[in-house]
This record gives sequence, C-alpha cells and structure tokens, in this order.
Amino acid sequence: VRIDENKIISEIKQVKPAAILLSCPDGYLPQVQQLASKIEKEYNVRTIISADPTYGCCDIMDDDASRLGTDLAFHIGHNSAIKRIGKRTVLIDIYEDVDFTKVIKESLSSLKKYNRLGICTISQYLHQLGKTKKTLEEAGFKICIGEGQERLLDGQIMGCRFGPAFNIRDKIDALVFLGQSRFHAIGVALSTGRPTIMLDPYLTIAEDVTPLAEKWLKRSILQLYNARDAERFGVIIGLREGQNLFKRAMQIRSKLLEYGKVVQPITLREITDERLVIFKNIDAFIQTACPRISIDGETFSKPILSIPQIEALFNIWDGKEPEVFLEKPLWL
Ligand code: SF4
Repeated sequence: VRIDENKIISEIKQVKPAAILLSCPDGYLPQVQQLASKIEKEYNVRTIISADPTYGCCDIMDDDASRLGTDLAFHIGHNSAIKRIGKRTVLIDIYEDVDFTKVIKESLSSLKKYNRLGICTISQYLHQLGKTKKTLEEAGFKICIGEGQERLLDGQIMGCRFGPAFNIRDKIDALVFLGQSRFHAIGVALSTGRPTIMLDPYLTIAEDVTPLAEKWLKRSILQLYNARDAERFGVIIGLREGQNLFKRAMQIRSKLLEYGKVVQPITLREITDERLVIFKNIDAFIQTACPRISIDGETFSKPILSIPQIEALFNIWDGKEPEVFLEKPLWL
C-alpha cells in the first residue's frame, strides 16, 4: 500500500499546522500510525488519529478537526476528483500495487462470451485501469472506460455513485470490476443492470456477481412491499458530516405527509437495528444517510428504505410500476 505522503508533507510545509487529524479506513490504520509518528518526529507536528470507522469520502471529520483545534484534517484512502472538503480537510490518495495479470488470465474463459467490456474500479486501483485495458485488448476484447464526473475520476465508482460505469452501459456487454469487494461489484451490477465480473487479484478469482446482485434486488423489492401499508414513518437524518442530507430528508417528510402518513424525523450517527427497535410506534423507516445501509440487507426488524427505494414506493402508491429503481448513476 502506498499512501501519497508527498501530498501530506507539502500541505504541512505550506500550512505549518501545530496539530493535524488523520482518518482512514480500518485496514490502513497500521500504516497511518507509522506515518503519524514519522510526521511528529520529522516535522514537529502533533498528530491525532481518528479510530472511528471511515466508510467513504462522505465520512469526513472536518467539524471534529475544528472542535479538536487541529489546523488540518487528512482523510486518507478515498481518492476522488475532489481534493478538499470543508474548511480544513484534504483527501489523500492510497494506491494498492497488487498485480492483476494472473486474475485477468484466469478470467478469460468466463469473459469470452462477451465482446465489449467496460472496466471500473474503486479509488485504490484506479492506476491499474490503463494496464488492465491494454491486457484485455490484447486478448481481443473491445474495452470502454467511462469518463469521470463530479467526484468520480475516469472508471471510478463508489458504493453509491456509479456514473462512469452507468454511462457506458449501452456500449458494453458486461462490466469488469477490479478489486476484492463484492459490496462494490454488486453495486455496479445493480446500477448498470449489466452482468458484472469481479476480478479479485488476492484470491486470483474471477467471480460473476450478477446472481448475487439479482438476489439483493429481490430483497430490496421485498422491503418496499413490506413498507407499502405502513402508516407511521421515521425519517432518519444521518449525522455523519458528508451524509447529512437534511433537505432531502425534509422533502421526503413533506411528501409522506401529503400521502397522509404520520412522520417523525430522527437523527442518528450510526444506524443500527438496536437503536431503531426503541421506536415501537413506528412501522417503517426511511434513511437518507447511506443507501447501502438499506440495500445491503443487514437484518433490520422493520423495513428501512433508502432514497431510491422510497421514490419507488411513491410510484407504487401512485399506482405506477416501481420501475428499475436501482438502475441509476447515483443512489442518493
Ligand atoms: S454514502 Fe455510503 S456508499 Fe456512499 S460513499 Fe458514503 S459510505 Fe460509501
């Protein structure tokens, strides 16, 4: 794993902070710990590491940094087209230099039924796209990599943003996702509606995640129908900094009121069934924090719908078909 340390050092040299806050996904904490002690020693800067889970580039700690009196916050590990968020947060790239050559070879027999392939991946493997494209082209495939948009770089997807993969879906027969993350690969399959093959370079396995995606879609549809007759709704506003879609939550509240529903807005940082079972007089929840909380099907005792799901439920209440509600570039 390579952390873009140069970027951190150049920011430190420029801002000359007395203290900095570092946050990253759990897997990178050991490296970040080493980096923090190096920064303390070599640049005489006090470092604080956030040990809270960091799920995505939505999960910034700009307010925390301000409360702690740190001048800079480095959010490490979620490369994005946006390099700064909030007043003091700088996004720092991480690169995994694992070799995909073997798993590409392994995948050729299962990919041969497709002619045109799209390639996409998550931030830490973005630098592998060019090489993978070349290898697959040499094997006879026509390859397409979607252009970046908003926060996303060329070929990049996140757990709720799939623009570069979604936008090329009419030009391809299947998508190849680089990395060891069913979470992301299934997201690609659901968003694009195209067969998706995950190339896992660690286990050297090419896995077609399409059947799993179909299972998840069925579960999401079932949730909708379980919420269809609910009368009392809790609308959850996520309080994680980048997940706070307050306006969107209030729009949903207004719309539910128009349908004659009883609505209670609720705030939560960590959305778990344990917190929600306390609300005995609520039949179903809508959460605007992270769509994957609903779609990934951690078992909640009551229906808990994401934004695309509540939009589909509005359609059902209007007597329309729910449509292919996850086939979109953005699930927020
Ligand atoms: S909202 Fe959820 S899926 Fe989207 S980036 Fe944040 S953690 Fe990932």
